[in-house]
Amino acid sequence: MHIDDEARVHSVRRALREAGRIAVLTGAGISAESGIPTFRGTNGLWRKYRPEELASPSAFRRDPGLVWEWYDWRRGLVADTEPNPGHFALARLERSAADFTLITQNVDGLHDRAGSQNILKLHGDIWQVLCTGCGRRSRNTRVPLPELPPHCSCGGLLRPDIVWFGESLPQDVLQAAWSTSEAADVFMVIGTSALVQPAASLPLVAKESNACLIEINMEETALSPHADISLHGAAGELLPLLIPF
Ligand code: NAD
Repeated sequence: MHIDDEARVHSVRRALREAGRIAVLTGAGISAESGIPTFRGTNGLWRKYRPEELASPSAFRRDPGLVWEWYDWRRGLVADTEPNPGHFALARLERSAADFTLITQNVDGLHDRAGSQNILKLHGDIWQVLCTGCGRRSRNTRVPLPELPPHCSCGGLLRPDIVWFGESLPQDVLQAAWSTSEAADVFMVIGTSALVQPAASLPLVAKESNACLIEINMEETALSPHADISLHGAAGELLPLLIPF
């Protein structure tokens, strides 16, 4: 490891040790080493479709069967993966911290499986379904689904309980993420291109409220110039170094 990187690792460890309130924002990059493709990576395509063409209310209205086929494929992919050392390191950090909140854009449930508890899921959960008829939410982990598209016991069409392109985030979750960001002493942003709003604003909200902003990503992002400490590399390798306890 380069001497500058070593100094940065020590600075992050110290910041985490001394912080009263820690907030972490994760994106698709943290699950990449578990084998789940990011949307913007080269493996982001399914058949000939881009995610933006499938994860939308209009796509679901047009062809719910096709949208569910894609989600059924993604659910199968996620079911075959395991949390990686990055997910486990964050669960350890939560256990040792006085006040810890994990804000995630991911829908894969790998943070839960690694043992994280206090999670704000900004974009929903691939293992939860929502009835478009009666509005009931329920957990459904069956892979593959026996019926596509699936239906509720009330007869209504089920949809994935995920925030699609063009939809608003659940207000209570967003509000909680916003106040968590304002209150954080340390805010770590991991594996997100920081292009999807409003999630991309949260690190800046934290920074404006005087948090120490730490970024972990394979590459530079629009947030990098705002970070107090940037570490470039794989989250699954860096997080266990930053959180060695
Ligand atoms: P993104 O695809 O836009 O960006 C991924 C980022 O992760 C990039 O900046 C990339 O450089 C970085 N990255 C890739 N591998 C990494 C690694 N091993 N370690 C550290 N960084 C790494 O992802 P996003 O910003 O989360 O936005 C995509 C949207 O798509 C989100 O809203 C999310 O809900 C959804 N999505 C979720 C999943 C999932 O649940 N696993 C997967 C794909 C997309």
